[in-house]
Amino acid sequence: MKRRNFLAKCIIGSAGVYTGRVLPASGFDLLITGGRVIDPAAGFDAIADVAISGGLIAEIAPTIPASNAAASVDAGGMLVVPGLIDVHVHARDAALPPAEFLATGVTTMVDAGSRGALNIPQIIDIARHAPNRLRLLMNVGVLGNNPGPNARSEFLDSLEAADVAKGHEAIERYGEWIVGIKARLSRGVSGQRDLQVLQRAIEVAEPFGLPVMIHIGDTAHPLPDLLAVLRPGDIVTHMYAPTPNGILNAEGQLLPEVIAAREKGIRFDFGNGLNEHWNWEVAERAAGQGFLPDTISSDLNVPGRASQVFDLPNVLSKFLQLGMTLPEVIARATSNAAATFRQLDGLGTLTPGEIADITLLELADGEFEFTDNYQGSRTGSQRLFTRGVIAGGQQVV
Ligand SMILES: [Zn+2]
Repeated sequence: MKRRNFLAKCIIGSAGVYTGRVLPASGFDLLITGGRVIDPAAGFDAIADVAISGGLIAEIAPTIPASNAAASVDAGGMLVVPGLIDVHVHARDAALPPAEFLATGVTTMVDAGSRGALNIPQIIDIARHAPNRLRLLMNVGVLGNNPGPNARSEFLDSLEAADVAKGHEAIERYGEWIVGIKARLSRGVSGQRDLQVLQRAIEVAEPFGLPVMIHIGDTAHPLPDLLAVLRPGDIVTHMYAPTPNGILNAEGQLLPEVIAAREKGIRFDFGNGLNEHWNWEVAERAAGQGFLPDTISSDLNVPGRASQVFDLPNVLSKFLQLGMTLPEVIARATSNAAATFRQLDGLGTLTPGEIADITLLELADGEFEFTDNYQGSRTGSQRLFTRGVIAGGQQVV
């Protein structure tokens, strides 16, 4: 709501034309010239210059004289989009530091459940030192996901590790970092207790008004049973999982409960990852029925850096292959991603006055192989590559 009011003040007309500058014209710190500026939040898609001042977006106009700026970047032939937001990553490992995500254009990211109430300080420490914005979905299991050798991951055969009181204590203490709760409901993690684990995740989140992200695929219960428990704003990740209890029936039709869940405000996230999270057949069948992701996330971890996932722009390119338009794809990793968590309000847009997080992308032509989690692949003719990154007004790539 807040954002809508703000946009109304800054933007005039349905053509998505920015008006005025919100900061003094005494000179800009940085000017990005000549790129195709796509800001889905404002419905803006045009060649334009973007001026930055004091770490904020200052002005967007067809031409801004370079003499008004201390420095400039020529973005001719490139896309200029809001800093990418990846709502499902794993940033727990020293081998894949936040700086590496930032280098691929991700200025804001959410670690999805790597740590739980008992070890969340580990990842908060990583977030504190990150050059980009790292926020956390805390795992409902007190030790999180892959806590290390000799430690039992999550809750496997007991509910004990889904400790609601410990979850509340952690949020009270570290609330500035925690944007929601993650629950992995696959049988390999939650056994037969997916519904009970989900109930506990909601109990942890509810008093703080936080969303729950559930990881589906090979759950004990059919998806409609899980969706019935979710609240508007909760998130289903791995939405195209082909394992039992996904979004399609045996004939490949979307379940009516899935359509109803979206209408109720439950969000669906892609979550590329590496194992059993999606295949092209499910993605194509669902897309053919108009069921596209609200957010496109990478689920990137260390092995994903070298296989299937690579980086968020590669994952986004898979959706160009699926037939989505460029602005539709960019929205899934900017404005839609920001709208998923209230703590990200104001991000994912180039609206004057907001933080100057900007990613410069090249949409390259060629032959590109896009792989799913089952060695299925499609050959596409376009792929996005990151060519520049501005975080908080500073050019970092
Ligand atoms: Zn994940």
